[in-house]
Amino acid sequence: MQLGISDNIKSVVMQLRTFINEVIIPNEVRYLSELQDDRWQSPPVMQTMINQAKKAGLFNLFIESDKHQFTGVEYAHLAELMGRSEIAAEVFNCAAPDTGNMEVLAKFGTDEQRSRYLVPLLQGDIKSGFAMTEPAVASSDASNIMSEARREGDDWVLSGEKSWVSGAGDPRCKFLIVMCQTEAGASPELRQSLLLIPMQSKGVEITRMISVFGYDDAPQGHAQIRFTQVRVPSTSLIGNTGQAFEIAQGRMGSGRIHQCMRSIGAAERALELMVKRSTSRYAFGKPLSELGGNVDVIANSRIEIEMSRLMALKAAWMLDQRGLHAALGEIAQMKVVVPNMALNVIDRAIQMHGGTGVSEDTPLAKMWAAHRAMRLSDGPDEVHREMISRQEIGKFPLTYV
Ligand SMILES: Cc1cc2nc3c(=O)[nH]c(=O)nc-3n(C[C@H](O)[C@H](O)[C@H](O)COP(=O)(O)OP(=O)(O)OC[C@H]3O[C@@H](n4cnc5c(N)ncnc54)[C@H](O)[C@@H]3O)c2cc1C
Repeated sequence: MQLGISDNIKSVVMQLRTFINEVIIPNEVRYLSELQDDRWQSPPVMQTMINQAKKAGLFNLFIESDKHQFTGVEYAHLAELMGRSEIAAEVFNCAAPDTGNMEVLAKFGTDEQRSRYLVPLLQGDIKSGFAMTEPAVASSDASNIMSEARREGDDWVLSGEKSWVSGAGDPRCKFLIVMCQTEAGASPELRQSLLLIPMQSKGVEITRMISVFGYDDAPQGHAQIRFTQVRVPSTSLIGNTGQAFEIAQGRMGSGRIHQCMRSIGAAERALELMVKRSTSRYAFGKPLSELGGNVDVIANSRIEIEMSRLMALKAAWMLDQRGLHAALGEIAQMKVVVPNMALNVIDRAIQMHGGTGVSEDTPLAKMWAAHRAMRLSDGPDEVHREMISRQEIGKFPLTYV
């Protein structure tokens, strides 16, 4: 299987690129300006673009359907294109956390969960969230999760507090997949289960919205949510009790690749903005591109993007060919390298823009904030490094003297 653009995706790549360049990027300013009218409603231009994407057959590309079937490597190329604009993934119904949640429901959901939640998600009629992180514990170690669901007759009763629930600020968000303890006596990796909690359930309360370097990331946002004695039927369990880690690991494997490929798309856009600025603005009698070390700045950005793309495509290839367990090392390496690379490229593009770089006049400042946060979300760099080093050290058993 090839790592490049296969015949199977050639036409969709062209279609997607044209749609992003001709429909989405020109509408970014309008999207932001409509958002000012009501920050917690999806701007009307988003629905207009969604309708156009559906009509063009560019909806739900992340999941197999009767219209398309892509390998992980093929979809990775499409995700990269979507990364060029912060709002593109939503237009194509390919944004996190919905994509991961749809994959979970498709694989582990009951018939009822699929018809009530997966079908409207696939149609783009509702949104969802994934609630694992908790304010009270170091959540990079998911075995710390304390929220608890108890069985009472035919119901589960959930109590606890979650933070950083992305997407929960959007009124279209109708349910959360919540990680919680149900098996207190079991070994740490088997204590947690996943429950499907409708947002309108009694006892679900958004206590605050959390910003990222001051950005509210509206209309989706990131919520802190208190669950007080939230009662849901026993059929709200996803998969089996104690299966949360296994399901979440699978969800995050492909999700991390999609997210990193989108970051590569963002880095490409930052490099493009950097170069255009450097060849169109003059100082000291020369274009910025010819001043100081700016040729190296541009060249290093290209080199780093290419190296990162190869790493991410290799991770996607491993996942396609050999499955999640075999691909874990490559996925962890990519998850450390790509956000850091994107941050470097975006930072250089900001520098090339002078004061404009940190203003709202380009997408760069918000891109930087989003990629800085990516070094934490889906696991901090250090957790992935620890996994990588454990694999390396494991190749040479410890010797005792
Ligand atoms: C923008 C954004 C969106 C997010 N969206 C979601 C979401 O939708 N759902 C959700 O559940 N969570 C979400 N998160 C939360 C994210 O997954 C957590 O922040 C992350 O897992 C880290 O957990 P923590 O914040 O509790 O940090 P802690 O676990 O307290 O870790 C703090 C720091 O300790 C260090 N550390 C931790 N472990 C190790 C180690 N093994 N070795 C060395 N150092 C270590 C690292 O420097 C780490 O950054 C989001 C976060 C952000 C910023």
